[in-house]
Amino acid sequence: MFDAIAKGFRQAKNRLAGLTELTEQNIETALREVRLSLLEADVELGVVKVFLARVKEKALGEVVRVRAKGQGGETMKVSAADQFVKICHDEIIEFMTGEGPALTFAEKGITGIMMVGLQGSGKTTSSAKLARYLQKDGKKPLLVAADMQRPAAVEQLQVLGKSVDIPVFNIPGESPVAICEKAEAEAKRLGRDVIIYDTAGRLAIDEALMQELADIKTKVEPENILLVVDAMIGQDAVKVSKGFHDRLSLTGVVLTKLDGDARGGAAMSVKEVTGAAVRFAGIGEGTDKFEEFRPEGMASRVLGMGDVVGLMKDFEDVVDQEKAAADAMKMLQGDFTLDDFLAQIRMIQKMGSLKDIMGKLPGMDQLPADVNLDDRELVKIEAMISSFTSFERRDPYALIREPSRVARIARGSGTPEQAVSELVQRFLFMKQMMGNMGGMGGLLGNIPGMR
Ligand code: GDP
Repeated sequence: MFDAIAKGFRQAKNRLAGLTELTEQNIETALREVRLSLLEADVELGVVKVFLARVKEKALGEVVRVRAKGQGGETMKVSAADQFVKICHDEIIEFMTGEGPALTFAEKGITGIMMVGLQGSGKTTSSAKLARYLQKDGKKPLLVAADMQRPAAVEQLQVLGKSVDIPVFNIPGESPVAICEKAEAEAKRLGRDVIIYDTAGRLAIDEALMQELADIKTKVEPENILLVVDAMIGQDAVKVSKGFHDRLSLTGVVLTKLDGDARGGAAMSVKEVTGAAVRFAGIGEGTDKFEEFRPEGMASRVLGMGDVVGLMKDFEDVVDQEKAAADAMKMLQGDFTLDDFLAQIRMIQKMGSLKDIMGKLPGMDQLPADVNLDDRELVKIEAMISSFTSFERRDPYALIREPSRVARIARGSGTPEQAVSELVQRFLFMKQMMGNMGGMGGLLGNIPGMR
């Protein structure tokens, strides 16, 4: 989803590859690549300029600091590319991290969350997704259908509410303001502690809509006002956010359709423009395709480090937390065997869509397209790994040293030799990536031809 930005950072990194020192000149060259990719990814021009200025300032600061150290006879241990990436990583996080928690809950009484946004942004869907998300967290939400503008919105919310087993409040024929006003009494009656107001949208910002929303805000005084923005609208996201923010003072943003081919730039722009950060991400049509937005995960993905933390969170839903933490440590230290790989493949089968998971693995975005895994392929992989001897599982390099082993496994598992070789390459690549991430560069040297 953030491929365009990722590409630019990769190119910037490549430009600096092999250089040990950041200099004014190579910083400029790298920044040019980053600038192009940010624009291509729909980050707003003003935001791009501020971002580049900050990265440049920090990188130049680094040049001065390193030179000063250098005079003292100290040598640099990290490369120019690593320094530059680290600065970009920190800055991306800075650009997207909001203050405090994603949602504010009332100290006593009922918490209000008002959802606003343009028609088609995914507001109704996101209201139901958020309700489900909060319900999983032990809250008791009530959904309020106050979008009387779009003909099917009320029914849509009722259907969604039913599917996640959350009550939906509406009074046919009443005005949106009156419905919202009466929702609190209904919440009390039903023993609910959070109210999510799904308000009306328009195709574009207009005064009548803003007035209606401002009236609802005055009446219900919600603790949270979340703007729902479709990531596909690209640069327009900035204009829309600003329009809503000026009238309503947003507390956060839900960025939807990040599963599509949106270029993701909106994620970096909205906080700079409104002060309200992206707090949640919509990543599909289903009510479970919703997650808290984590700037660290996005920064790592953009910079080609993969989103291991996100991946681990998915694991945690399936396995117990302690085991997930131990697995994470193993992966990060590059201490990752084929047995672990097999165990995780089995777990992956329990975890749902493989595509989502592969997208989070470090380096997977750089693999050639023809190694796309689908779920049927998992069965084959399992068959292949089952044909490995325990020695081979512990030391898969043996297959590279002795190709006759590949032939034996291919026969044993009924798969082509090429598939076995690819599996080994893929595993070693993954292991290498994970080793790199943990800073255990030593692994690199162990992998013939994989430097
Ligand atoms: P509203 O007019 O703002 O209430 O928009 P809806 O909630 O009806 O959503 C508009 C369309 O976008 C629907 O077809 C939703 O299924 C779809 N949609 C919403 N969120 C997402 C998302 O995160 N990913 C994808 N792929 N589709 C989404």
